Amino acid sequence: MDEGLSHAVREVFVRLFNEGMIYQGDYIVNWCPRCHTAISDLEVEFKSDASFLWNIRYPFAEGQGEIVVATTRPETMLGDTAVAVHPDDKRYKNLIGKYVILPLMNKKIPVIADDYVTMDFGSGAVKITPASDPNDFAMAQRHHLEIISVIDGKGIINENGGAYKGQDRYEARKNIVNDLQKGGYLVGTEPYAHNVGQCYRCKTDIEPMVSKQWFVKIKPLAKQATAAVIKGKTKIVPKTWEATYFDWMNNIRDWCISRQLWWGHRIPVWYCDNCKKVIVSTVDPDTCPDCGGASLKQDEDVLDTWFSSALWPFSTLGWPEKTAPLKTFYPTSLLITGFDILFFWVARMMMMGLYVMKDVPFKHVYLHALVRDEKGEKMSKSKGNIIDPLLMIDQYGTDAFRFTLAAYTAQGRDVRLSPERIEGYKFFVNKIWNASKLTFANLDDFDETATAEVADSLADLWIKARLNKAVEDVTTALDEYRFNDAAAAVYRFIWHELCDWYLELSKPVFYGKGSAEQKQAAQKTLGVVFPTMLKLLHPFMPFLTEELWQVFHGDDKNSIMISRFPAVCSEWKNDAAEKEMETIMDMIAAVRNIRGEMRIAPSQKLDVLMSTVDEKTQKMVEKHKDYILNLANLESLTVEINAVEPKGVATAVVGSTKLFVPIVGIVDLSGEIARLEKELAKISKDLQQSSKKLANRDFMSKAAPDIIQKEEDKVKDFQKKHTTLENALKKLKGMSA
Ligand SMILES: [Zn+2]
Ligand SMILES: [Zn+2]
Repeated sequence: MDEGLSHAVREVFVRLFNEGMIYQGDYIVNWCPRCHTAISDLEVEFKSDASFLWNIRYPFAEGQGEIVVATTRPETMLGDTAVAVHPDDKRYKNLIGKYVILPLMNKKIPVIADDYVTMDFGSGAVKITPASDPNDFAMAQRHHLEIISVIDGKGIINENGGAYKGQDRYEARKNIVNDLQKGGYLVGTEPYAHNVGQCYRCKTDIEPMVSKQWFVKIKPLAKQATAAVIKGKTKIVPKTWEATYFDWMNNIRDWCISRQLWWGHRIPVWYCDNCKKVIVSTVDPDTCPDCGGASLKQDEDVLDTWFSSALWPFSTLGWPEKTAPLKTFYPTSLLITGFDILFFWVARMMMMGLYVMKDVPFKHVYLHALVRDEKGEKMSKSKGNIIDPLLMIDQYGTDAFRFTLAAYTAQGRDVRLSPERIEGYKFFVNKIWNASKLTFANLDDFDETATAEVADSLADLWIKARLNKAVEDVTTALDEYRFNDAAAAVYRFIWHELCDWYLELSKPVFYGKGSAEQKQAAQKTLGVVFPTMLKLLHPFMPFLTEELWQVFHGDDKNSIMISRFPAVCSEWKNDAAEKEMETIMDMIAAVRNIRGEMRIAPSQKLDVLMSTVDEKTQKMVEKHKDYILNLANLESLTVEINAVEPKGVATAVVGSTKLFVPIVGIVDLSGEIARLEKELAKISKDLQQSSKKLANRDFMSKAAPDIIQKEEDKVKDFQKKHTTLENALKKLKGMSA
């Protein structure tokens, strides 16, 4: 065990003890009678056991009548100190505060009321054995009941068990049931399956036991830790967890920190054999400070592992020494962990940090999601739905896998993972790879040293403005721990802006169809957009970006990791260019749509007439005509103000501009009408079938939610196709008339 950490642990323990924040008290623990040790709640395994429920009659101390209680463990009745009912239970309302006689022990015990009792379990009245059940123990503390242990550490009935003293707990059970029957106290026995806690090591039934344990008085610490989050000194992300944190802090109970285990930080408490003094010290004492006796015994117990973990933010920085790292790094900026240890670990680090360092241990706590399967189910071997990350990495690559996780890590939601989703991002990796090859080829003859000012094209201005937006979106999203939004922003930029548009728009220029200046401007643009894009993508795809970065920079071997993360560049902001480019892109998309709807071959060149409402738009389109000619594959583009619509065209509208795309003479009208009618008939039938299914009550009540969802998606898809086909038909019919 680390010396420094041990030192820190003892220091905190002694400080808490001296300030009256640590005390010894009774506590109920999970005890294994075979291993002779307490085990934590997490180490108890539950096994379903087919046993019985025994109904036992407890007669009133005064007058006639009785209360019947049900129990799965009749042997514990020897230690009963009350019978509890629910305060709202009308059957027992008048009995609260009265007494009953505990059979076999012939002892008066009170009837108490507590919310914990379930009214519809058995008779609604339960026996309370504080020493043998954690819930009863808690109830005993609420009602100040006597706590009597009747079973010892070996599972044997002790001296408090009257006539049953010395019997094993299960032997005693048999004898007690017999005696209850003989005495007329047993009302009935019914088969009952319930969960029995077992020792995870030896499978022996756990025996809850009351013993002396060490506690931390937690309320004052919790109060500070709550206030720190309310004041925003520590922010929990996603914020929804703050409510859970507050709830837990408000209902917190004193923290039992002692454990009966072999491994751990031993409690720094010694007992003097001679005068019984309790010595609490950071260093091992040689003699008793009171009587000078040298026979000292250290407490056998060790500390809960979370006690030392709670000190982690400062103990790892050298505390209690005043080290330089402690001064520099405390409070830390961010803790990333799973929500399942928000209480065990995060809350305790908050409490200890504030108590010891007088400051919060971290400014932000990011609680990450669980990765589940695509249906949202927890992965498990028995369900066979485990997605092995190493296999996925082998199959689709590390970067695709990492990007998928980021893309689906939405705050407050678990990640639903499937191989198909990872494969989808493998295509993204391929896309980037191809775009990079194109970039390297385009920049091959780029003279970086050329200083001449060259004018940027609209596409150049646009892509830089869009890159700016991507930098802004990714940075903001990362700052706010919205990893999915950051991934979506970088994805959108690379795929839908850089690849789909900029590289396509600039192709003719790169291939020498424009002027030398145009090419130089495009090269200059790509020369800065490409590496910036790599840096933006780097947190999500570290390997691919490093590789491309190295290729891009040639002899400059500095890792992309130590480059500066992109910042928004105010010179690149250009709303006017964005707006113009968008209009041009909409026009290209409009022609492409008509091509698709009318099934015009991509290779078929078209003569398009455009009608604008003003000269400004006309001039703008004329200026950037080449983009439309190239990307919409036009033979010619004529732009007129208020042009007359020709016959036999399909019309598209972009803003106030109309585009007329020739159809007659291009498309075989009657053949196309027949084809569309046939397709429409088929879709109508499909749509009818799926709608019928969804209207069927039997189907809706029996089908799994994901099947219903699939059917609903189908209907939506059919409806969309139906509308598209109908519109296309209408257009064609109008033209042939
Ligand atoms: Zn055991
Ligand atoms: Zn002494």
